[in-house]
Amino acid sequence: MIKENIDKIRNDIETIRDKGFSDSGVKIVAASKLQDSQKIYDAIKYGIEDIGENRVQEFKPKYEEFQGLVNFHLIGSLQTNKSKDVVGKAKLIHSMDRPSLLKEIEKRSSMIDHVQEVLLQINISKEDTKSGLYVDEIDDFIGLVEKCKYVRVKGLMTMAPHYDNPEETRWVFTELKHIFDELSKIEYNNIDMEYLSMGMTHDYKIALECGSNMIRIGSGIFGERVY
Ligand SMILES: *Cc1c(COP(=O)(O)O)cnc(C)c1O
Repeated sequence: MIKENIDKIRNDIETIRDKGFSDSGVKIVAASKLQDSQKIYDAIKYGIEDIGENRVQEFKPKYEEFQGLVNFHLIGSLQTNKSKDVVGKAKLIHSMDRPSLLKEIEKRSSMIDHVQEVLLQINISKEDTKSGLYVDEIDDFIGLVEKCKYVRVKGLMTMAPHYDNPEETRWVFTELKHIFDELSKIEYNNIDMEYLSMGMTHDYKIALECGSNMIRIGSGIFGERVY
């Protein structure tokens, strides 16, 4: 089943690319929260190169088990005091969203002489249940990033609200893509707009049509999560 699921997503990526919506490659990050190890081994066997965990508590044991076999992403919100457990281990932290976290990751990265790559999580929809920088906070935050030595911003991420009809999320993805393109035109220190992480199982096709190049897929690869 995992193989078929991954094949389907790859096909969808191809179809959308053929329609001319995107020109670059698309990275699939398999969101492996609450999935057992066997399923993760299967996903790796069928070509998955990146997995994303959203809680540090689960990131740690999975990292012990799978390091060297797959790249790790931290996709969920990160408590400042838990940064030390992911810095240097996560290839990419998708949830950079506040000055205190930036400061701590800069400090932890400097201690191991490592440049940590992160994405700025942006709260486009302004739902207060979602984390992320508001659009009008981005400029000031970039000012802080530019002064860092051990943190590098590699792009943007957003969590779209859940609508029953995924078509309704299109405006969120369109807006983030617009911001991504605008920031791409400017040369900043430590900032490189390479990844646009948006789209999950329910809405990845819409996200791809809007220019996403990194989709985070959980149930669409592994099946429904058992809580
Ligand atoms: C769980 C999770 C996903 C994937 O969710 P699915 O709906 O299962 O594809 C993506 N991003 C984040 C931050 C998540 O926590």
